[in-house]
Amino acid sequence: QVRVRFAPSPTGPLHIGGVRTALFNYLFAKKNNGVFFLRIEDTDQNRFVPGAEAYIMEALEWLGIAPDETIGKNEKYGPYRQSDRKDLYQKYAVELINSGNAYYAFDTTDDLDAARKLEEEQGKTFIYNHTNREKLDTSLVISADETAKRIANSEHYVIRFKTPVNETLHLHDIIRGDVKFETNLLDDKVLFKSDGMPTYHLANIVDDHLMETSHVIRGEEWLPSMPLHALLYRAFGWEAPKFAHLPLIMKPVGNGKLSKRDGDKMGFPVFPLEWTDASSMTKSSGYREKGFFPEAVINFLALLGWNDATEKEIFSLEELVEAFDLDRVHKSGAKFDPDKNKWLNHQYLIKQEDVTLAKAFAPILAEKNLSTALDMTDEKLTKVVSLIKERANFVSDFWDISDFFFVAPTAYDEKASKNWKAETPALMQELITVLEKITDFTSMNIETIVKDWMTKNEIGMGKVMQPFRLSIVGAPRGPHLFDIVEVIGKQETITRIQKAIN
Ligand code: GLU
Repeated sequence: QVRVRFAPSPTGPLHIGGVRTALFNYLFAKKNNGVFFLRIEDTDQNRFVPGAEAYIMEALEWLGIAPDETIGKNEKYGPYRQSDRKDLYQKYAVELINSGNAYYAFDTTDDLDAARKLEEEQGKTFIYNHTNREKLDTSLVISADETAKRIANSEHYVIRFKTPVNETLHLHDIIRGDVKFETNLLDDKVLFKSDGMPTYHLANIVDDHLMETSHVIRGEEWLPSMPLHALLYRAFGWEAPKFAHLPLIMKPVGNGKLSKRDGDKMGFPVFPLEWTDASSMTKSSGYREKGFFPEAVINFLALLGWNDATEKEIFSLEELVEAFDLDRVHKSGAKFDPDKNKWLNHQYLIKQEDVTLAKAFAPILAEKNLSTALDMTDEKLTKVVSLIKERANFVSDFWDISDFFFVAPTAYDEKASKNWKAETPALMQELITVLEKITDFTSMNIETIVKDWMTKNEIGMGKVMQPFRLSIVGAPRGPHLFDIVEVIGKQETITRIQKAIN
């Protein structure tokens, strides 16, 4: 059975790259009728950030990709929080010591600094592996008795992996294909610390084994850990899961990984939900607060490093599950494109029911005390939304493109005002007379009557329509003018023209 996991460390809010990892795991699980589970990797107590775990869960819920198993939900292989599994790891570390795959190291930071300096003086870079480990304060050089005594005396120690020497590892990654690693270039990573906590590497492998993870799908930044992980599985005598390392998410311009700072610079979120940094009380806005639809975020993330081999760009979650394939994930970095993100949101926005959008717009109007401006009924508001949504990416754009439905213009666009000629006031006065007589004040009818009047009197279109729009909207913008005047009504239309004349 396919069992995949998202295994974030709760060291802060979920970055968009993390969400993409979660999504690809989710899609792969669903595509293969498997299980997607969430495991919290919180063994590094120094980097623990309160609130981050809840944030991660809420973000996945909001996006509609909640895990099948996690803390408090179908805990088949629980606990799903590593700090709650704390007591489990030591025996595995000791098992590796007993099988000769790991050793105790007692050196202090000072010892290590000294060793590092010594190497540097000889023009080498220090690496904690076979070149040094026999020279340092480790159980490889002291007797078993001595080792036991020092541990019993609560001396500070760590357990390190004893990386094999002179081996070329031939590994396979689903996305990258065959990858080679030289063991001599690896360092003997710490697996367990005397504070009773495992490090990421040990806990990750033990848990992926115990939780029967079939595929490890994670970001490319973990590719360098792959050889160690493969060696750990081998040392335990366990079958390793299959690996797939997802391409990095790159800055929109230039090179390098997308960072939170890029987001701040673009005024664009890189987090799904808003996050307040408790230590500095600074807020970073999230996709949700910016007015993105979760479906649009999912769609956007899916395209960061994957496509279905066609030109298709709009995918629902169900369609993604159907189309997803790890073989189609790209190797090279995926450029983050904020404009595309907005465009996708637009696609989802125009698909929403007008009533739904009107409901979302209403609070913005209420905040401006305009809920009932110009007798704005729910029905009228829905009409306004239907007229403007084509021009919006977000509900928060609505106000700027529809303000004239609610308030008369207070100023007139300078450039457009140049079309306001000497004869315009008289023409506008005539227009008022025409409008006053219309009883069925609906867009098409008004348009027919006004145009008939212009044709009969041989008045050029531009001569009337431009100043007409300027009077109603204040600028050459907005939807079809006759649609606007229908919504604001006869009285308001005439009042605005009168005001423009004076
Ligand atoms: N805890 C690691 C992280 O924060 C998990 C990496 C992995 O998936 O193995 O991303």
